[in-house]
Amino acid sequence: MAEKPDIDPKRENPEQVELDGVSEGIEALPGRLNRYGKAKKGAIDVAEYIGTIQEHQGIARRVQSCGDYLVFRHYFTVDQVKLHGAQLCMAHLLCPLCAIRRGSKALKAYLDRWEVIRAEKTSLRPFLVTLTVKDGPDLEERFKHLHKGQRELWMRKHRGRGSPLDGVAGAVWSYEIKRGKGLGLWHPHLHMIALAENQPDQQQLAAEWHNITGDSFIVDVRPISQEDPAEGFMEVFKYAVKFSDQPPADTLQAWLTLKGKRLLASAGCFRGVPEPEDLMDDATALADLPFATLFYRFMQGRYALTN
Ligand SMILES: [Zn+2]
Repeated sequence: MAEKPDIDPKRENPEQVELDGVSEGIEALPGRLNRYGKAKKGAIDVAEYIGTIQEHQGIARRVQSCGDYLVFRHYFTVDQVKLHGAQLCMAHLLCPLCAIRRGSKALKAYLDRWEVIRAEKTSLRPFLVTLTVKDGPDLEERFKHLHKGQRELWMRKHRGRGSPLDGVAGAVWSYEIKRGKGLGLWHPHLHMIALAENQPDQQQLAAEWHNITGDSFIVDVRPISQEDPAEGFMEVFKYAVKFSDQPPADTLQAWLTLKGKRLLASAGCFRGVPEPEDLMDDATALADLPFATLFYRFMQGRYALTN
């Protein structure tokens, strides 16, 4: 098995999702604004491309104006900065800014759930499982193939006749879409956090996956650090597409193919984590504290503080 699936444990990808807005103080805000500013520029690039196509002008306008302003609250007595308000487009497959916020919110929600689970079931460990399908020219067909394969993998576990997932008590997974190396064909794959007492067997999983898909056997199983689970969890909650690696035409095609589809799913004890209601930071724990409002507007390629 010479090929390796796409895993970026060293976080070399600059678009890697970060756990932002959780306990960050005012000194972290310039870095955050810089990240958001780059993402906003990426959104404008996509919007300008799709705005040239007649039927997409509505969504292009929404993406174009996404995050034109950002309102933060600085809770200065505890030095925490929270994103409080913004007009966001919510099209995370087109917009890097919304993708950052969506990833960050989901990462936080599932890390919180994991803390609750591990306190109750102390023998469970998190593992990062990656499933890939062979590259192909038709994104829709390849995505369906992956999606169907994943469903069948879980059906087989539930049928109880022996499955590489037998020891898995809970899982959360997300789909990622990119072009593969070489011919540049579509390469959808999925990353999953699986909670189990023992590491699922990679060879058994590869054999089962090949049996299910008929054409694909590249899988990967590795432990996630117990001390710093965020690092492994990030692989699952990063962007569904890599905006900076693909031309806007591919971004548009991925959106057209995948919009409305569920790209994040869960099973077992990871079920029922609520979807975030919005993409702002949660500040409920700080509700009674005084704050200063910081209002930023995107001007000349960066976020600038305004009155
Ligand atoms: Zn957006």
